[in-house]
Amino acid sequence: MKEIRHFINGEYVASESGRLFDDIDPATGENIARVHEGGKAEIDRAVAAARAALDGEWGHLPIAERMARLHRVADRINERFEEFLAAECADTGKPRSMASHIDIPRGAANFKIFADLVKNVPTESFHMDTPDGTGALNYAIRRPKGVIGVISPWNLPLLLMTWKVGPALACGNAVVVKPSEETPQTTALLGEVMNEAGIPAGVYNVVHGFGPGSAGEYLTQHKGVDAVTFTGETRTGTAIMKAAAEGIRDVSFELGGKNPAIVFADADLDQAIEGTMRSAFANCGQVCFGTERVYVERPVFDEFVSRLKAGAEALKMGPSQDPDVNFGPLISQEHRDKVLGYYRLAEEEGATVVTGGGVPEMPEAFGGGAWIQPTIWTGLGDDARVVREEIFGPCCHIRPFDSEDEVVGLANDTDYGLAATVWTRDLARANRVVRRLEAGLLWVNSWFLRDLRTPFGGMKSSGIGREGGVHGLEFYSELSNVCIKL
Ligand code: NAD
Repeated sequence: MKEIRHFINGEYVASESGRLFDDIDPATGENIARVHEGGKAEIDRAVAAARAALDGEWGHLPIAERMARLHRVADRINERFEEFLAAECADTGKPRSMASHIDIPRGAANFKIFADLVKNVPTESFHMDTPDGTGALNYAIRRPKGVIGVISPWNLPLLLMTWKVGPALACGNAVVVKPSEETPQTTALLGEVMNEAGIPAGVYNVVHGFGPGSAGEYLTQHKGVDAVTFTGETRTGTAIMKAAAEGIRDVSFELGGKNPAIVFADADLDQAIEGTMRSAFANCGQVCFGTERVYVERPVFDEFVSRLKAGAEALKMGPSQDPDVNFGPLISQEHRDKVLGYYRLAEEEGATVVTGGGVPEMPEAFGGGAWIQPTIWTGLGDDARVVREEIFGPCCHIRPFDSEDEVVGLANDTDYGLAATVWTRDLARANRVVRRLEAGLLWVNSWFLRDLRTPFGGMKSSGIGREGGVHGLEFYSELSNVCIKL
């Protein structure tokens, strides 16, 4: 059986404790690898290696050379594309058609975009008057923050991890990554790529394990970690923020969502249905900015519901290798239990089940997998837990509305503020509505369309800070002002 080790100081190493855990294929329930579980000892070693790397070659590389090596990282991911693709699909069960178009290409792009950006971002300078008339010159210098702790989730493992590691390394930091225990493979494989690309030992370190009482918690508590960037659940973010408070260490959080889509009657319904299909069901509904609440203007409500139902029922479920498959399993049996709990709760809360609501029949080979039906509900009250809590599964509730004011109120009636989507042909109305919606990512007549130079992050309980483009540089670097008396 394949063994997955930590990657510390440029080498793959076993856990001191000898403890290992299983890596399960969510499509079959089979164990595909054994993973070393890190503890305090491995976090200590990884943080020490990262600190030493900052003082070594990495800390002194000319910026052009640092960027050239990050370009090589991207190139090597693309050269080893099939290996990354196979590893990501084995860990997540997601369709190859999705991972080959989104996860792996974006994993590579995340290194190029930030390398190109950092080279070209200016810092400010101000000439000031002084009483003696000679004046003074102020200019800002941008420096790496130091050792960055990176804690990433399982839904888009390589994409979301490199979305942090790319800018962190472009800014000259060193990282210690704790990938999700569900999806260790691509983060581990990236260690080989770092060595091949000439990234010095200790710049990129990986320690596998769990959250509380394991590698994740120890990483956030370690005083040698200068800042923590985390993507995952809101309640995990709360725990990490408490740990980071010790030593006043900076945090950047991309957390959960309960994202609304608003469909006005004048929308291009073909587009709105295609977009809502993707936003509710892509990646088996396990996308942070996926749509779980859909509000449809009353004149087109019935048509929208019946067409979305037809779309959900036409999804092709199956193994990731099948090129026609566009719907995979959930990440684990544990997560399926959680989602099925919400499916039951929806019925208890009085929902009409338009389609789905349970577990599909699968061929015997996939009997142990975490398969679930795409599900649509109508008829729930606005206070139903199913309408208020993040489920993170392939499901949505659709509710009619009658006016712009009403729907803005409904959309904002949530603790979260990650994403919102508006479908209308009236761009003046779109502009009016999005300016009132409380979310960090606002899409009009599209969904998941991302220019990596733009700010990315959530409001309210959905996060702190913005990553993407120059915005990430605020987190991954320190600005100091130099004032020279002339
Ligand atoms: P999770 O919070 O359970 O786990 C994320 C990571 O945190 C894992 O690596 C886990 O081991 C680690 N962890 C857990 N407890 C910890 C602790 N106390 N200290 C340190 N580390 C700890 O999240 P998940 O289930 O992997 O991912 C799904 C969640 O992520 C959903 O809520 C989803 O909305 C959110 N998400 C948000 C975004 C975004 O950009 N806003 C993107 C993807 C996923």
